[in-house]
Amino acid sequence: MTTPTRPIPFPDDVTEGFWDSIRARRLSIQRCAACRRFNHAPSLTCPACGSEDLGFEAVSGRGTIYSYTVLAEPPGPGFADLVPLVVVIVELTEQPGLLLVADLLGAGPGEVRIGAAVVVDFEEISEDCVLPQFRLTEA
Ligand code: ZN
Repeated sequence: MTTPTRPIPFPDDVTEGFWDSIRARRLSIQRCAACRRFNHAPSLTCPACGSEDLGFEAVSGRGTIYSYTVLAEPPGPGFADLVPLVVVIVELTEQPGLLLVADLLGAGPGEVRIGAAVVVDFEEISEDCVLPQFRLTEA
């Protein structure tokens, strides 16, 4: 039996631009060339204007905690060593309502609060899989 591991993303045609940037340790978010709105998670058409002219654009990686939860029990195989796990919804500074779900690294449940400033970090969970996560930072 192999060691249980965490689930990993499988990029498709719509999301591969996002995951390519993450592997390069940059956070890029889908952006509409027509109305200039950022959009996450990536989609085939712009949710704001319906345009199919979408690309990926590097963002600052900075944001604030919009909401969070603390997982006391492992949510699946591969998470046993990670609990309690702080899962955050981050609102990126580039646009109100531009939300991204990630883990909060390097901070326990007692340190997290809504509105706290965070910055993206990149967690290599296997040889070819990097995930965007966040860390607390000074505002
Ligand atoms: Zn648009």
